[in-house]
Formats: sequence, C-alpha cells, structure tokens
Amino acid sequence: MQLSPEVRQEKLRSLVEAEGYESLEKLLEAVVTDSVCPAICTTAGCSYTCEMEPDQDRGWCEVCGQNTMQSALVLAELI
Ligand SMILES: [Zn+2]
Repeated sequence: MQLSPEVRQEKLRSLVEAEGYESLEKLLEAVVTDSVCPAICTTAGCSYTCEMEPDQDRGWCEVCGQNTMQSALVLAELI
C-alpha cells in the first residue's frame, strides 16, 4: 500500500506517542538493535499498535481485520 508522506508522518507521530518515546529518532534507535519493531495500522482513523517484524509492511490489524499494519522502519522508509 502506498501512503502519502503526510500520512506516513502522522502515523509515525502516533506511533512515537503510543510507544512513549521522546521522538522518532529515539524510537528508531531503540528498534535498530531489536528483533521486533513497533507497528501501527495505516487505516485512516485506526491507531492500533503492536510489535511486529522490523520489515513488516502488511501485518494483520486485529481491529480492522485487514493486512494494514506497517512497522516504524517501513513507515520511515529506512528499509
Ligand atoms: Zn486497523
């Protein structure tokens, strides 16, 4: 799924807030060394988050019932 830069930024902000990090940089620093990564649903209006594989770009959202979860690294276009 292709997301606009605005949606990416908004979803990343929501994810940083939900995970309790000071900034996106802090979150990315933490996940780079980890085997799991916070992910957020990319559906408009859904902000479900959970831990997923760092390269996940279409994970299952339990709320939407669709493969709409993307990891922070994918949203930040770092992988
Ligand atoms: Zn969802």
